[in-house]
Amino acid sequence: MGEALHPLLARQLRRLGLDEAAAPADDQAWACLLQRVARAYAEAEQDRYLLERSQEIASGEMAELYAALQAERDLLEARVRERTDALQLSQGRLSSLVSLSSDWIWEQDDTLRFTYFSEGLKQATGVDPAQLLGKRRLLDSVVDVPPDVAADHERRVTARLPFRDLVYCLGAPGSRGAYISVSGEPIFAADGSFKGYRGVGRDVTHQRLAEQQVLKLARYDGLTGLPNRTMFMDELERTLALARRHGTAFALFFIDLDRFKNINDSLGHGAGDQLLTVMAARLRGLLRDSDLVARLGGDEFVVLLDGTVDAAALAHVARKALAAIAEPVLIEQRSHQVTGSVGISRYPDDGADAAALLKNADAAMYLAKDSGKNTFQFYTAQLAAQSAQQFALESDLRAALQRDELLLHFQPKVRAGDGALAGMEALLRWQHPQRGLLAPGAFITLAEDSGLILPIGQWVLSAACRQIRGWRDAGLQVPRCAINLSARQFVTDTLVDEVAQALAAHGLQADALEVEITESVLMSDPQRANHTLQGLHALGVRIAIDDFGTGYSSLAYLKRFPAQTVKIDRSFVKGLPLDRDDAAITQAVIAMAHSLGLEVVAEGVETQAQLDFLRRLGCDEVQGYLPGRPVPAAKLQARLTSRQAPARAA
Ligand code: C2E
Ligand code: MG
Ligand code: MG
Repeated sequence: MGEALHPLLARQLRRLGLDEAAAPADDQAWACLLQRVARAYAEAEQDRYLLERSQEIASGEMAELYAALQAERDLLEARVRERTDALQLSQGRLSSLVSLSSDWIWEQDDTLRFTYFSEGLKQATGVDPAQLLGKRRLLDSVVDVPPDVAADHERRVTARLPFRDLVYCLGAPGSRGAYISVSGEPIFAADGSFKGYRGVGRDVTHQRLAEQQVLKLARYDGLTGLPNRTMFMDELERTLALARRHGTAFALFFIDLDRFKNINDSLGHGAGDQLLTVMAARLRGLLRDSDLVARLGGDEFVVLLDGTVDAAALAHVARKALAAIAEPVLIEQRSHQVTGSVGISRYPDDGADAAALLKNADAAMYLAKDSGKNTFQFYTAQLAAQSAQQFALESDLRAALQRDELLLHFQPKVRAGDGALAGMEALLRWQHPQRGLLAPGAFITLAEDSGLILPIGQWVLSAACRQIRGWRDAGLQVPRCAINLSARQFVTDTLVDEVAQALAAHGLQADALEVEITESVLMSDPQRANHTLQGLHALGVRIAIDDFGTGYSSLAYLKRFPAQTVKIDRSFVKGLPLDRDDAAITQAVIAMAHSLGLEVVAEGVETQAQLDFLRRLGCDEVQGYLPGRPVPAAKLQARLTSRQAPARAA
């Protein structure tokens, strides 16, 4: 046996006390050996089996585990992929939003220095981020933040609070003065320490400009483009504050267009607007840039003249303004002329505050109007008293209607030939509780300007009709009675109806009444006047042209209107018979009127010489102090003759 024995066998031999070189000692030992060898094989087999089995089991488990792990990994991978996709999507979304949006994102570090701006900033505002990066908060270099807003912002930032919609104007170099709105939130690290701010910005220039436009609209008059009352009052306050501080003076003009209401009423609002626009431009063009011209409303303009309160200089400006206003205006292919009235107040002499200065300039303007229009007045304490009286008079007049203080006087019109009563004219009077009996000259303009003329006119109409009815009922023969109509009444659409109703209400025929209208009423809006006149004419009411000769129209022109009578104005009669011009005019008017089929009444006949002269010229009727002054109804009654008994029923 040259080869070495298998160790297992060698081990068995040793256990049996057998030498590997020697032969077994006996059979028993052999048998034992064989037995043991066999057992050893069996054991070895068993061992191998166990090993294989455990290996088998282990690898099965491993495979299972592996499969599980695999599944887990797949799941994880899928999730990661999903997340990555989602993240990519949202990043893409964000970055395209950031780059597409006109808004931008910004970041600041803990010292509030800018560290980042997205594209949008430059696109929206034109500001290069490079100019801002590393710089501290923009608020240091901005304009247009109201102090309270700025203070609130400071407070929030110091307290590390979020802020929203802070709007300011970027005055940064190279920008075009963009208005931006920013919102931001503080950034905190995990340990709670402040890391800076992050936020968004937005260009709001368009919005801001639109807001400013709206604001501007609120401060300027839409029609004329002039500053309106709001802006004017602001400027006046500002000027006042400066004048108080520096001890300087300034003046205020209050300008009102005379008879603007007539034009507006008769030609329509379009024409009125046109007129106002022209006037606004003229006033603006006339004054220096430093003077503020504003429209307070209606036909009221104001001028703030900063610099001089010298009376001569102001009078010069006022005259220029009046001349500019009085230039003819072409509206709807017709030339119109309006005039203005100017009232002037001065700081500090005529008022210490805006309200007083304005009120006093207004009062002075009213006095300018009263003293014949197309003129100017400085405010004085004496004028103040007068104007207070005017104001009082207006409220008195309002009350007069209710308190029944109005009454009519009647003035006869007689035939020039034989002096027989041919008609009469109702003339308005006001029994003022303090000032006594007032003639229309004292209050008719006021009534017209305040609009009170309309209810007053209606009162006159029905009072005249009532009086005629009363006389008739008393059995008296009443010749036609004339009432005067003012321009304001003439442009209402209801006049013809009102006359018809008044006649009907008192059971009168139309020929009981005559209306007198002045030339100027016809001339200011001929078409409309003619329309109303045709209506009255159709009713059967007689029409007389009053104050003829004062309105620059010709009789031939007046013939277009359905009038039956002209009344030669008192001013021509006055010079008769000696004044050659008056005589010539009167003669011509009478001759022409007759040739046109019109009757002629001469007004203001005070002397026998006038009457004789007019009689010779063939004047039809005369009216004046000679044939009879205006008198209360009861007095005129004496001149009315009784009717024959049977006529009483009418
Ligand atoms: P008018 O219609 O021309 O009336 C004639 C005016 O001349 C009246 O003045 C009358 O008193 C005055 N008068 C008459 N005869 C003479 C005279 O011989 N010499 C002088 N110096 N004056 C004479 P009054 O009553 O003061 O009225 C003035 C104007 O007021 C009227 O002028 C008329 O335009 C207006 N008026 C009068 N009543 C009314 C009315 O009810 N409504 C309207 N809208 N106006 C009226
Ligand atoms: Mg009259
Ligand atoms: Mg008259």
